[in-house]
Amino acid sequence: MPNVARPPWEHAGSAPNAVALRAGDEVWTYAQLRDASAAFGGELRALGARPGDRVLLVAPTVAEFVVAYLAGQLLGTVVITMNTMATEPEIDYVVEDSGASLLIAWHEASLAASRVAEERDLSFRVLAPGAGARSGTPVDEPVERNLDDTAVLLYTSGTTGRPKGVELTVGNLLDTARTFVEQLDLTSQDRFGTALPLFHVFGQAVCLNTVLTTGASMSLLSPFEPVAMLEMIRRDRLTTVAGVPTMWNAMLHASGDFGPADFADLRLASSGGASLPGEVITAFSDRFGCTILEGYGLTESSGAATYNAPDRQQRIGSVGIPLPGTDVEIRNLDGEPVPAGDVGEVFLRGPSVMKGYWNRPDATAADLAGGWLRTGDLGRVDEDGYLYIVDRAKDLIIRGGYNVYPREVEEVLYEHPDIVEVAVLGVADDAYGEEVAAVVATRSGAPIDEDELRTWAKERLSPYKVPHRFRFVDTLPKGPSGKILKRAIDRDALENPA
Ligand code: ATP
Repeated sequence: MPNVARPPWEHAGSAPNAVALRAGDEVWTYAQLRDASAAFGGELRALGARPGDRVLLVAPTVAEFVVAYLAGQLLGTVVITMNTMATEPEIDYVVEDSGASLLIAWHEASLAASRVAEERDLSFRVLAPGAGARSGTPVDEPVERNLDDTAVLLYTSGTTGRPKGVELTVGNLLDTARTFVEQLDLTSQDRFGTALPLFHVFGQAVCLNTVLTTGASMSLLSPFEPVAMLEMIRRDRLTTVAGVPTMWNAMLHASGDFGPADFADLRLASSGGASLPGEVITAFSDRFGCTILEGYGLTESSGAATYNAPDRQQRIGSVGIPLPGTDVEIRNLDGEPVPAGDVGEVFLRGPSVMKGYWNRPDATAADLAGGWLRTGDLGRVDEDGYLYIVDRAKDLIIRGGYNVYPREVEEVLYEHPDIVEVAVLGVADDAYGEEVAAVVATRSGAPIDEDELRTWAKERLSPYKVPHRFRFVDTLPKGPSGKILKRAIDRDALENPA
């Protein structure tokens, strides 16, 4: 029976000294990763962890995260991964919602989790550097599981309400890992690197599991910092990297003496999580001699659904074609499929689509009717099957009856040489219902003249799309995976300009 925890076992047998993980100066071979996970698994078993139990892991992107994650998978538990910034009430909510019986927390960020464990009288284990080095009775073999057994629960806030646990199965994770091995043409000789957090689906399902499946090496950086990322690519001679658009953008604006010669081995960068401006693709290729290929997915689709694979002609602005076995359908408000080229809501079906939301039959029935995942994203598919994400349905601005897609406006502003980051959003307006506003971080750190920006936009966009209100900030709020977090932007300041 296949098992998500098998890969390190397989590679540790055939290539024990091959490098599995690099994190800063630390190097873990496949044999070390296997032995540490087996030993840590033994400790978790001694604490009572049994197949199907929910085990909550609160840890940053360090090698020990991987040890604990694999240990949980080895025992056939359902691993829930959370950000180390999670507060006590947030952890408590997830513990209550999931019925977790064991909490593991990184030693430097264990207070909140330890309090929740104490309050609820649950087992608790601190995760410290060198996890698994202590001798427990190791777990020799992964617990056998079925493909539809739940492997992980990843909490996502979605559009409204409290976070929901997305149930991804053994089959979902295996499918995503296998698919990406093929899409990236990844072999054991590859050196993959990322600064994406491992508790999030992109870092975990699309990157980590894929790399461990092939026996390649994985370089980890945490937290993301553009110069450190560029240095990691150079130092580890990475062949492929993955990230979100804010990361590529920050790397382009980073100081430092980096050029194509430093990235001679880098054949491919994969981007997802948010829309990637075409400008960034071109500038990245000019500066670093590397192509960025864009894909699209959600936590609910194990992080992946479409991709511009390297063996195809990349269509800039498109998130590629559906991954093998995945179907994409664009539907109108009545739920009926629309013709090619028309914009509607994106629905997905396929082997990476979640089993459902944990303990939420109503939400599952609403968002997974007939096996089709409702994404909440607006998009269109061209004649050749390439998907274009137009925007999130909830971010659509309706100004005086006209639809404005913030992404289109953002793309235009990103072309401005002094703009580093921008978010366009709709704010309440007496005359138009909603008005287009832009929150901007500049390269110089100083505001740009608003009239100049309006003129810039007017030359490139229909008048109703031109932002009328601006706010300048040092940096935009980002979510845990590094994406710009629009809902964290203070709209009041834009709605009531001084
Ligand atoms: P949370 O639910 O945790 O608040 P989130 O809504 O960003 O965060 P994720 O599952 O991390 O949840 O992200 C999925 C969403 O990211 C998609 O629904 C889509 O809106 C957006 N997305 C992903 N890839 C792309 C892309 N290439 N282009 C545009 N948007 C994308």
